[in-house]
Amino acid sequence: MSRTLDELFDQNVAWADRKTRDDPQFFRRMAEQQTPRYLWIGCSDSRVTANDVLGLEPGEVFVHRNIANVVHTSDMNILSVLEFAVEQLRIEHIIVCGHYGCSGIRRALAEERGALLDYWLQPIAMLYRKHQLTFDRIQNENLLIDRMCEINIEMQVRRLAATPIVENAWIRKQPLNLHGWIYAIHDGLLRDLGPHLSSIADREALPSIDERVMNPAEAVSAVQRQAAEAFHSLSPQGRDHPG
Ligand code: ZN
Repeated sequence: MSRTLDELFDQNVAWADRKTRDDPQFFRRMAEQQTPRYLWIGCSDSRVTANDVLGLEPGEVFVHRNIANVVHTSDMNILSVLEFAVEQLRIEHIIVCGHYGCSGIRRALAEERGALLDYWLQPIAMLYRKHQLTFDRIQNENLLIDRMCEINIEMQVRRLAATPIVENAWIRKQPLNLHGWIYAIHDGLLRDLGPHLSSIADREALPSIDERVMNPAEAVSAVQRQAAEAFHSLSPQGRDHPG
């Protein structure tokens, strides 16, 4: 069912009313300044909205989105966002978050090329072609796309870590942590994929993206991590004090 634009305005009024009722100072506080703690670099996909996924309110996350969450070092848009986030807002955590089943990644692997989008996705297409023999061992097409979604995030975190903006922040000892996460639309859960980088030394210690293609990281959701920790604490080897 499609909504008319008037309905969107009506919903806006209802939302603003609700916000003010819940917290009378909300908009006054918002108007004063923003102090987000996180920068989210995500896909433009309409189902992956940073605030909803993270359970955050307006003012809590600074956001940049593009198709397939690509970090292009010639992209004035992302570089301006990054510079403002790091140097003005002094954000300490940058999250590159892709998602499984990404249409941008699917397109990057397609034979058909020539649209503007294909230039945008070229780094992903090139990585795929470079390692096509390895990737083509994955027979199921959806699993292949998902694997490429994961490796793309790892690649973009590396590209982010190589920007002078991030590098200079680390050189001047500004706390700045980069994270690679992936979101699954089918269960609404985020998964920690890595890498986690907090310094130039961390960046330099990373295996190359080519090595990661050969040895994939395991994406772990908080639910899985908690279950593993609970299991570990129950098993005899996991107890600090047996008995
Ligand atoms: Zn996507």
